[in-house]
Amino acid sequence: MEDVQKFLQQEGQPGFRLKQIYDWFFNRQIRSFEEMSDLPAPFRKALDSRFRLHPLILSRKETSALDGTIRYFFAGHDGKPISTVYLPEGERLSLCLSTQVGCAYRCSFCASGLVPFQRQLSAAEILDQILLIRKDQQQMPTNLLFMGMGEPLANYTQVTQSIRWITSPMGLAMSPSRITLSTSGLVPQILKLAEDNVRVNLAISLHAVRDDLRLKIMPVSGKFGVRELIKAAKNYARKTHAPVTFEYILLDHVNDRLVDAIRLSYLIKGFPHKVNLIPYNPVEGLPYERPSGESVARFQNWLRQRGVPVYVRKPKGLDIGSACGQLGPAVQR
Ligand code: SAH
Repeated sequence: MEDVQKFLQQEGQPGFRLKQIYDWFFNRQIRSFEEMSDLPAPFRKALDSRFRLHPLILSRKETSALDGTIRYFFAGHDGKPISTVYLPEGERLSLCLSTQVGCAYRCSFCASGLVPFQRQLSAAEILDQILLIRKDQQQMPTNLLFMGMGEPLANYTQVTQSIRWITSPMGLAMSPSRITLSTSGLVPQILKLAEDNVRVNLAISLHAVRDDLRLKIMPVSGKFGVRELIKAAKNYARKTHAPVTFEYILLDHVNDRLVDAIRLSYLIKGFPHKVNLIPYNPVEGLPYERPSGESVARFQNWLRQRGVPVYVRKPKGLDIGSACGQLGPAVQR
């Protein structure tokens, strides 16, 4: 967008053009610069030869027969596959956005870790997932989740730029309270988010309460100690006055015992938080099992009895490989 501003000056266009262009781009669903009908025709042509309106191409979509979840498949300018998941639930229309092609963090339970890291998505590509799905659905999503393929905080600059466009009154003007960013726990970037005053609902994939187990199941992000991670979360909660969500995957017989629940309830004491339990969603080739409904309920109760606000995340789009942790190599089918 800074480029657009510069281009306006080069072309000798008045400053108010920027607002016109933003309005077309963010608020109306146009396919080409040609449709920006209140701009002079030669200037529309000039814009068209200089910029690409949509950096992504929608290649196909698959709808879940179970719950209406839709998985969108896009191609980047270099043909790289990018998936976004649309999760309609009553009034709530959530989009789960991808931030990288592949993922370098290789969490042992996650399909995205099976796809080698290839590149970062640009802020424009992140934004375009929203714009193209809004157009396809003829409706603006109500909630955005930075929880698709990739580690959002490992693409800090582009992700925070996209958040600025999403929340800016000149952009999509969405409230930060409707944006959730999930990280595998990059401590320096969590501290930076707080410092840069980037406001989102922060969700941290904690998944284990002991350093040794966390390192084992999360070989890269596990390098930050559990306590250091909790400290960073606390700092973010304090600076933003917002509760931090701890995501906790439940892997049968791995991290679902009473001692885990007890330690978890102690670790997160002293600042606003909640816990989202995510029963493991099966990924082909990975060595884990989903715990029974009973043991999920038991774990939830252990936490609840200790005063922790705790919810269980329902899997969505299991049949089309769209539930948490399932955006994997299938993208490249
Ligand atoms: N890289 C970010 C976003 C990942 S996806 C992060 O790690 O937080 C969002 C959530 O799904 C994370 O909590 C992630 O750990 C979890 N997840 C990954 N694989 C899963 C699986 N197989 N079953 C259930 N949840 C999974």
